[in-house]
Amino acid sequence: MAPFLTRRNQFQWVALLAVVVVLPTVSLLWFMSRVVANERLVARQKLAALYQDKLVETAAKVQATLSNRIATVARAGVSSNSYALFRQLVLSGGFEGLLIWNSSGSGVYPDSASAMSIPIAPDSALEEAWQLEFARQRYDAAAQVYDELASSPDLHTSVAAILGRSRCLSKLGRVDDAVQCCQRAAFGLADEPQDPALRLAIANARLMLLSLLNQTRPGAMKESLFQRTTQAIEESLYSPRENQPRFSSHENLFIARKLLEVLDATPGTASQARTAQLRKLAAAEGLSIAVAGISRQLNNQFDRFFPLELDQQRYYALRHQAPTVVLLLLVSSNGLASSLEAYRDAFNGQDVVCQVTDASGHLVLGPAEAEGEPIAAAALPGSFPGWEVKLSLAAGDVFEQAARRQIAVYVWTGVLVILLILVAAGVATQAVGRQIRLNRMKNDFIATVSHELKTPLASMRILVDTLLEGHVRDEAQARQYLLLTAKENERLSRMIESFLTFSRMERNKNAFTLARTSPAAIARDAAESVKTKYAARDCELTIEAAENLPDLSADHDAIVTVLVNLLDNACKYSAEDRRIKLEVAAEPGFIRFAVSDKGIGLARRHLRKIFESFYQVDNSLARRAEGCGLGLSIVKFIVHAHKGTIKVESRLGQGSTFTVRLPAARPGAD
Ligand code: ADP
Repeated sequence: MAPFLTRRNQFQWVALLAVVVVLPTVSLLWFMSRVVANERLVARQKLAALYQDKLVETAAKVQATLSNRIATVARAGVSSNSYALFRQLVLSGGFEGLLIWNSSGSGVYPDSASAMSIPIAPDSALEEAWQLEFARQRYDAAAQVYDELASSPDLHTSVAAILGRSRCLSKLGRVDDAVQCCQRAAFGLADEPQDPALRLAIANARLMLLSLLNQTRPGAMKESLFQRTTQAIEESLYSPRENQPRFSSHENLFIARKLLEVLDATPGTASQARTAQLRKLAAAEGLSIAVAGISRQLNNQFDRFFPLELDQQRYYALRHQAPTVVLLLLVSSNGLASSLEAYRDAFNGQDVVCQVTDASGHLVLGPAEAEGEPIAAAALPGSFPGWEVKLSLAAGDVFEQAARRQIAVYVWTGVLVILLILVAAGVATQAVGRQIRLNRMKNDFIATVSHELKTPLASMRILVDTLLEGHVRDEAQARQYLLLTAKENERLSRMIESFLTFSRMERNKNAFTLARTSPAAIARDAAESVKTKYAARDCELTIEAAENLPDLSADHDAIVTVLVNLLDNACKYSAEDRRIKLEVAAEPGFIRFAVSDKGIGLARRHLRKIFESFYQVDNSLARRAEGCGLGLSIVKFIVHAHKGTIKVESRLGQGSTFTVRLPAARPGAD
């Protein structure tokens, strides 16, 4: 029988499903995803516009703050002491370096004048002392000569001699005496001298006093002297006082660094805030001196930050025209970030991350990495040419994530809908298929039945007509016709019986009555049933039944029908060799019936199909043999109803063996 759904049919169904279900669903999903994407775009644009306005507002604020700061600097003007401005800028103006030019364009700060070498009048006595101290290392003698010179009317010589003596005493291990002596040079003069060289010599003496003090034993005296000395040095550095003579930048920086070294080596001796201030000022001065060295190469634009690469560190410089001077304000990348704090403040606590980059893309403010596309971007105000501020959403692109989630929900819903429809379609197809198969089977059944019944009916009619019309030679012929009629009649009955069994079976109404029965008896009854048929067809049946076979729990007549059908077939499909064997044996838990013939056999491809209803192998013998293709399907049905199995082994032209295994009755059961 042709299967209800052929391969081509199946393909057509799939194509139909694709067109009717999958295509519209996919189109709908695509449309939904577009809608979600558009929604996301609109929301994003709205937010971007909001942030854009805020960026513009903040840019104005940043510029105003900066201009204010610069204006304050400009107002402060430049006194004769440039440290006044320097201090203000570095300590409270947020800058980290400063260069000043006067109106005629010459550099005012940092100044390069130096009094590092103390001018000392050629003095044979001092020379002699140096000889003794450095060349001959006779510290005692040198100390004596220095002592004599200490009272020289020339202050330079006097200070140098005191320092020399102090040095020698220290080298002789007389540190306390050295301290005593050094104090005279450090604090011996009533006023701060105007002479820069002398001031430098005194600063030098004070530094030396600090290092000598570090070698002495601790004590209150030492403490107070230490304090006094550091304070005196500090006051002479970066002094904002108008008329106080000051050191040149290099000297100042040198002394500041030395003092910082001493303070770092003796922590807790000076106030931390003051040390931090000093450190800041020294760093700024160092930077200013370094930039002064390259200031000629710097561009001339005013009030605009430009980058400076110094010792592999990035700084920014801004040139400003104050009323009487030109200033170059320096600030590091980090320092500048504080000028841009307004951006951080504006967007702090909001779900955005703010990044500021300079004209070369260098990050000045904000995290190095920001997730997702920036939501808004703007240029910084005029003082930051080419700079850009970007805002990105802190938790990545939330719109994108929300949209993706939404689309995923739609897609899964779509997939689920398609799956449900496919499952429903599958179930419906099966149900419809079953119905169609059933109808087709009924039709086939009716067609087959009518066709099969026609042949014996037609033969009987001819025979009866012949008899009725008296076309018979004698009594013997009449009897022969009657015998033939009886035979056809019998065949007809058998067929009808077969059809009825099948029909009952199909309706599943064949209720079997199970009872204890002996396999040998079944085999005997089956043999008895086919006896006449076998005799008529010259078939020879051998029964090999084992002794003491266990009983079966089965419908005796049904199993006899099984064997009769198999024996019938064996004889029907035998050619020359018509010996047929029925074997009955016990297997653990089973009884095995095997019917073997040496007949026409079956090709491999038919082995499975012969158990289907109405299936008949299309060969000449099979066609000649009476049957309607129901025998084996009845056998299979009965065997399966008894929870047994049936199997066939066959070779074309060599015969077949049909083996039926039925479960043996449990001992003691009925
Ligand atoms: P039928 O009434 O045609 O015999 P069956 O269902 O009993 O119907 O058998 C189905 C087909 O199986 C037969 O048409 C025949 O071709 C094949 N067949 C059954 N038994 C044998 C056998 N012992 N040897 C060869 N072919 C067989």
